[in-house]
Amino acid sequence: MTSYKRRMALKSLAALSTSVLFNNQLRAKIHSDIIVIGAGLSGLSAALILQDEGYKVTVLEADNRVGGRVLSERRVAGSPETGGTAFGSGYARIIDIAQRLGVELIDLNPIMPYFRNRELALDQKIIPMNEWPDHPRNLLPKNMKQLPPNAFFHQFLGKQNPLETNDDWMNPKNFIHDISVHDWLMKEGFNSDFIDLVYNLNITHGHTAKDVSVLMLMFVNAFSSNQNRLGESTSYTAKGGNMSIPEAMANNLNEPVLMNKSVGSISTQSTKAEVICEDGTKYQADHVVCSIPFSVLKNIDITPAIKGPQADAIQKLRSQKINMLHLVPKSSFWEEDGMSPSMYTDGYAGMVLAERKGSSPEDVTSLTAWLRGNIAEQLDLMSEKEAIRAVLDAIEELRPAAKNQLEPVSYHSWSLNPYSQGDWSYWGPGQISEFGQYVGNPHGQIHFCGEHTAISNRGMEGAMESGERAAFEIMGII
Ligand SMILES: Cc1cc2nc3c(=O)[nH]c(=O)nc-3n(C[C@H](O)[C@H](O)[C@H](O)COP(=O)(O)OP(=O)(O)OC[C@H]3O[C@@H](n4cnc5c(N)ncnc54)[C@H](O)[C@@H]3O)c2cc1C
Repeated sequence: MTSYKRRMALKSLAALSTSVLFNNQLRAKIHSDIIVIGAGLSGLSAALILQDEGYKVTVLEADNRVGGRVLSERRVAGSPETGGTAFGSGYARIIDIAQRLGVELIDLNPIMPYFRNRELALDQKIIPMNEWPDHPRNLLPKNMKQLPPNAFFHQFLGKQNPLETNDDWMNPKNFIHDISVHDWLMKEGFNSDFIDLVYNLNITHGHTAKDVSVLMLMFVNAFSSNQNRLGESTSYTAKGGNMSIPEAMANNLNEPVLMNKSVGSISTQSTKAEVICEDGTKYQADHVVCSIPFSVLKNIDITPAIKGPQADAIQKLRSQKINMLHLVPKSSFWEEDGMSPSMYTDGYAGMVLAERKGSSPEDVTSLTAWLRGNIAEQLDLMSEKEAIRAVLDAIEELRPAAKNQLEPVSYHSWSLNPYSQGDWSYWGPGQISEFGQYVGNPHGQIHFCGEHTAISNRGMEGAMESGERAAFEIMGII
């Protein structure tokens, strides 16, 4: 049942509130208590659904804010995103909850042409796009030489993606594709230099092409292609930043989210569960919904211990290294050097995107440097000050006109964030067949959610899907 239909069904039920049947159901459920661990989208989604059903829900959040990996920089004009950035027209649950809770959405279509216009820089040199097709570093097939290197992979994969539906990546018939991107591209006739160029550079999933399953990327590709097929508009963001969505969700809970409640252990018995926070406080409930990313959960004590493939998943599932740096320009230096303010580079500058969150799409409100994979890993070895300087130096070396023109206003390493320890989960070769079907299984009274347990959707919508599934498990619908 979609959340919309479920909501409508609940509304119809509410209209029948004098019915004996409904009153009995409600009374029975109101005595059940649920603890939700984590006030990111998945935990809040589960909490709201269960609250709607009459359960008394307590949400425990380790951080001092809600939203988790949705984090908007409100100190910067236009509130650019440090976490979940944009969502397509097919993000039915996100769009539905935003509309229901009165969060205004901004259509990103007008800025899309600017978004795609980026300079390419390899070996710390800008390569003008008109020179790229004949450039010696261009190893792309003849008919694709005009593409920037990062655009090749998803186009190539898209043409031969065997998945018929988004969730087909969990179908054992497709486990033959649960091999590394590296091995898959080699089988397709490409060599290591080519793979470095089209995949390993400023990597979006994995640390290298060798540690990520191409089957997972088939799922990512199916998900984004299906998004693109839906609706007239391709992308949205929320007014005031995407954080407005989890904030509105939290504001609609009967009990406020309990902040600074870092859960250190969870135990489950046959009908009850107990959660102990690092500050010593204890909470008991009939069910626990746990949205903690596995990168964090692997160090949390669960009693009795989870065994078998699900335990392996908690220990082995990896999460993307990514750091985000927001920069406010003091001048329009891109007008001086005549290039796009946005760049795709193989150095410490990573991918720089111009944020256009002002009244006109032409206005650049800030720049965001997306620093991924081994760039993020190296920056994490530096102090924050050194890391910011390394990124600025790389930008200024490529663009002398940018010298002293960028003011760093916010820097965030998701790997160093103790409550996420990385960003989106990614599956290594062989892991989908090894533990894919066990990843979200309940353990006693503990129900797991979080984007890493989603089957049909990725990112923010995956988080919502997983929260809904965990709530439905508790309600006995699935
Ligand atoms: C840079 C970046 C860009 C992104 N871009 C997009 C995008 O464009 N589109 C998209 O769809 N998705 C995007 N995503 C992904 C998306 O933001 C996430 O998939 C989604 O927000 C995850 O939600 P979640 O509820 O699963 O996890 P989280 O948001 O991580 O929620 C888990 C919560 O648990 C809390 N927690 C952790 N440990 C404990 C503990 N011990 N005790 C209590 N609480 C704890 C955390 O603080 C957190 O609030 C992006 C993410 C990042 C970081």
